[in-house]
Amino acid sequence: MTTLYYYHKDFLQHDTGLGHPENPDRLSHINAALKKAEFDALKRITPDIRENIMELVQLVHTKEMTDRVLQKVSSDNAIFLDQDTILSSGSANAALLAVSAVCDAVDKVCNKEANNAFCAVRPPGHHAEPTKSMGFCLFNNVAIAAEYARKVYQFKRVAIIDFDVHHGNGTQAVFYKNADVFYASTHEMPNYPGTGYPSETGVGNIVNVPLESGETGQQFRQKYSKIILPALKQFNPDLILLSAGFDAHKDDPLASIQLEREDYQWLTQQIMQIASSCCDGKIISVLEGGYNLYALADCVSVHISVLMQNR
Ligand SMILES: [Zn+2]
Repeated sequence: MTTLYYYHKDFLQHDTGLGHPENPDRLSHINAALKKAEFDALKRITPDIRENIMELVQLVHTKEMTDRVLQKVSSDNAIFLDQDTILSSGSANAALLAVSAVCDAVDKVCNKEANNAFCAVRPPGHHAEPTKSMGFCLFNNVAIAAEYARKVYQFKRVAIIDFDVHHGNGTQAVFYKNADVFYASTHEMPNYPGTGYPSETGVGNIVNVPLESGETGQQFRQKYSKIILPALKQFNPDLILLSAGFDAHKDDPLASIQLEREDYQWLTQQIMQIASSCCDGKIISVLEGGYNLYALADCVSVHISVLMQNR
């Protein structure tokens, strides 16, 4: 039994342009950090685009939206879907590989070929709504993974925990009226995208816990301990998916929460414990944000090394 690591070099071909925080260097720094001997036991997987990829994308997104992302883009003429969400010539391929990676991870973890998985994908996904790409995100990888797992493995309850510093408006929108999918998020407010008030509760399946600028790891842990972790346990999921963003780190340029690597280590341990009591430890963690390259690589490392302790 093992931990899987999904990566494809074509994730680097999603070119967001000079100076964009969501850039290929993010994955290069993560990969460099994972060269240490302690990660030798990681099972590294290079995904292929799935045969039924359009069906998978359209578990969550409309055809019109899918077509917009997959339009042909010439190599010297990037298209701005919004101010900071960019399509380059390599973007469609990267986005389809990202969706393929998370679905393959669902298959391998649910078929017990592995305990858990980390998908180091680009572009990220949690801001992408059913009809709209936004906020650096093209397709909503984690939402597609949840729908795929429900459809193929007939899970009654799937949980998504989103610890990216931004609210996953897209994921919330997909599952807002779906009592079979639990979505919980901690996120800085005010900050992009502006959703995620505690009053947004869906059909009782959504838990939003805003963080204030300057909040520390201690306050973050308290909020998880008091609100999100008990609610997750009570939901008793068959599978846990993570929207794993590392931009609540104290050195991140896009937010002002003060987390340190130990806080990500702690949270990963807490979720692992719940996963082992509810769902045989099944966790699929999907990269979202994290924009200080060094903090990102360090926090992903500690997150993965906790996932690997399940062996
Ligand atoms: Zn983020």
